[in-house]
Amino acid sequence: MLMTIDLSYRPEVVELVARTELFINEHVLPVENEFRGDVTAAGGDDLRRELNAKAKAAGVFAPHAPVEFGGLGLSMSDRAPVFEAAGRSTFGPVALHIGAPDEGNVHMLAHIADDRQRHEYLAPLAAGAVRSAFAMTEPSPGAGADPNALSTMATRVDGGWKINGRKRFITGADGAGFFIIMARTSGEPGDRGGATMFLAPGDTDGIRVDRHIHTTDKSMIGGHCEMTFTDVFVPDADVLGEVNEGYRYAQVRLGPARMTHVMRWMGSAVRAQKVALDYVERRQGFGGRLADLGMIQQLVADNEIDLAAARALLVRACWELDQGSHASDSTSIAKTFGAEAFSRVVDRSIQMCGGLGVSEDLPLARLADELRPFRIYDGPSEVHRWAIAKRAVGRARKERQA
Ligand SMILES: Cc1cc2nc3c(=O)[nH]c(=O)nc-3n(C[C@H](O)[C@H](O)[C@H](O)COP(=O)(O)OP(=O)(O)OC[C@H]3O[C@@H](n4cnc5c(N)ncnc54)[C@H](O)[C@@H]3O)c2cc1C
Repeated sequence: MLMTIDLSYRPEVVELVARTELFINEHVLPVENEFRGDVTAAGGDDLRRELNAKAKAAGVFAPHAPVEFGGLGLSMSDRAPVFEAAGRSTFGPVALHIGAPDEGNVHMLAHIADDRQRHEYLAPLAAGAVRSAFAMTEPSPGAGADPNALSTMATRVDGGWKINGRKRFITGADGAGFFIIMARTSGEPGDRGGATMFLAPGDTDGIRVDRHIHTTDKSMIGGHCEMTFTDVFVPDADVLGEVNEGYRYAQVRLGPARMTHVMRWMGSAVRAQKVALDYVERRQGFGGRLADLGMIQQLVADNEIDLAAARALLVRACWELDQGSHASDSTSIAKTFGAEAFSRVVDRSIQMCGGLGVSEDLPLARLADELRPFRIYDGPSEVHRWAIAKRAVGRARKERQA
């Protein structure tokens, strides 16, 4: 049977992309440029609220959120070009309320939360009334690249659970309206399974933000924080999903969240290439334009190849996710390739712009700083390669035995 693959987007999506681009250019890029990409210096939550209100007025707010909660309910495939358009500014995701970790948390709560939790947690989050945080990573020897090392413990008490432990790199923790906390409810650190997700309002007794860990990026509100949880009581009603099923639910969040990061950072990489093209096309040297030099053309072409390849991998992974698959391989492949390709694109763009490339006159140096952590969070490149290889070897073994 002949199968047609249609890569075009519905007219509504094309129109939304155009509207998003316009909104980013008019309302978001000027602020980002004025504050050199530092969202805290630009106003933090005050700026977020102001931009969210403008995004609502422009009809581009929360395109991923379920329609019943005021969003546009876009599929993963339809999110891709819209999130990319928002990613043209490092403040774009905050403005549209599609940044990490809120966007991934909306996605997960929409799939897992019960009716009361949807009302109490998802509704205000989807509307942008509050921010949220996802607390998984811990200081050594706790959970990091290896989630099974989870050491934060939740112990049974009358009517619920008490959580004790330390976390670090928790994005948005300072000022979060609520936390999704991953804690161990059975087994020992190092054991597979035994994790549960808990919902806890930000002002719950025992939740403490110890410090902001200063990282290279500056576009996410509420910091990447080190935290302590001391006897934090969570009632049974705020267990998210089933006890001991936390790792399974994490998969609901992780695959799509990896892809939405690729979408947003694609926007940054495309922006970098545009900046470089603008420079080499105008800059005179050696009797012509830089753009006429073969070695510059190679940098331009390699950027185009990286962008096109990353986009193709993203489209494939989103299609699989929309079919209901976990898309473990395709999301790992698109995440690993995208994170590394976008860094290469920005680095080549810096090179093409000479001294201005590393200056604050252009956004390229800060885009490089923003992108660098993406090779570490949502699974370091090495962990994805390790998982991809294990699955490939497993498949080969099965085929041999068949
Ligand atoms: C900017 C930023 C934001 C973050 N936001 C959040 C958040 O909101 N919530 C949250 O819970 N966490 C968050 N994290 C944490 C992030 O998920 C972890 O940093 C990541 O999982 C790696 O864990 P780790 O830092 O403990 O590194 P480690 O586990 O110590 O790993 C260090 C390095 O070892 C190598 N490595 C590890 N395992 C393997 C393997 N199997 N094979 C080969 N090499 C390997 C990799 O190179 C890896 O980078 C964030 C991190 C950053 C940088």
